[in-house]
Amino acid sequence: MLIIGPPGSGKGTQAERIAERLGVVAISTGEIFRANVKGETPLGVEARKYMDAGDFVPDSVTNKMVLDRLSEDDVRDGFLLDGYPRTTAQGDYLDEILADGGQRLDVVLRLTADDEELVARLLGRAKDTGRSDDNHSVIRHRLKLYHDQTEAVVAKYAERGILTQVDGVGVIDEVTSRAIQAIREPHAA
Ligand code: ADP
Repeated sequence: MLIIGPPGSGKGTQAERIAERLGVVAISTGEIFRANVKGETPLGVEARKYMDAGDFVPDSVTNKMVLDRLSEDDVRDGFLLDGYPRTTAQGDYLDEILADGGQRLDVVLRLTADDEELVARLLGRAKDTGRSDDNHSVIRHRLKLYHDQTEAVVAKYAERGILTQVDGVGVIDEVTSRAIQAIREPHAA
């Protein structure tokens, strides 16, 4: 399954919790990039240029990384992908990877929250985590990219009838409960 939502919607937190409940591995492209930045790997050095500005890492780089990760053994019985795809080209690429592996998406969960709530959360988070992309202008830019590019990806999953969505505002446990319920009964959401 996929979890998609704007920056600050709590995707990462919810992805970990949902994956644990479902007994599948959670894969976050943002986390993989940050680990590479920290380790100063060639991938990290490349990705950092984009991440600090709040831009998407180019599809060619991101797609290759996702292909490598989805080729590992632990995803064979299912996975929850967090933060990918964010562009329609990435969505098409994911379709190819899954088709080649004889896998398919069961459900795409979208977490929603309005922009002002997201900006407030991200500015709050900046104080705790010191993430280099959590400052005011970069946050606005990341939100704009989400609206301009990622919402088109979400629309495609809606057309396919595999999209379910939950309100990402509220106590963390409650959002997790809503999400689990939405995943179990996608059409009731
Ligand atoms: P957020 O959703 O708050 O922006 P993430 O941790 O998911 O946080 O992503 C952090 C950054 O990593 C993004 O701003 C982008 O630079 C990069 N990134 C993550 N996933 C992708 C992706 N699928 N395509 C391009 N860049 C990505």
